Amino acid sequence: MAVQCQLATHSDGEHSGLLDDLGEYGTALWLRWRGAAEVELIVLPDCPVVSPGPDGEGCCLFADHADQHTWQDAVEETLSLPS
Ligand SMILES: [Zn+2]
Ligand SMILES: [Zn+2]
Repeated sequence: MAVQCQLATHSDGEHSGLLDDLGEYGTALWLRWRGAAEVELIVLPDCPVVSPGPDGEGCCLFADHADQHTWQDAVEETLSLPS
């Protein structure tokens, strides 16, 4: 079984992968790891933040995650200044 990290950016090398949507509304089972030696299985509430606008898109991450929401375009984080 392979679990893929869902985070777009990392501040401290900690990865989080969605393991299972528990079927219970609002929570999911996550695998959090920091290398192969430190693996933690945790149940986390879903991120409640929805994208602005009439067709609000839900975030696929857990509540209080550090990085941008899944509906945020990572490219927008890049700012290029004219030289
Ligand atoms: Zn990661
Ligand atoms: Zn989010």
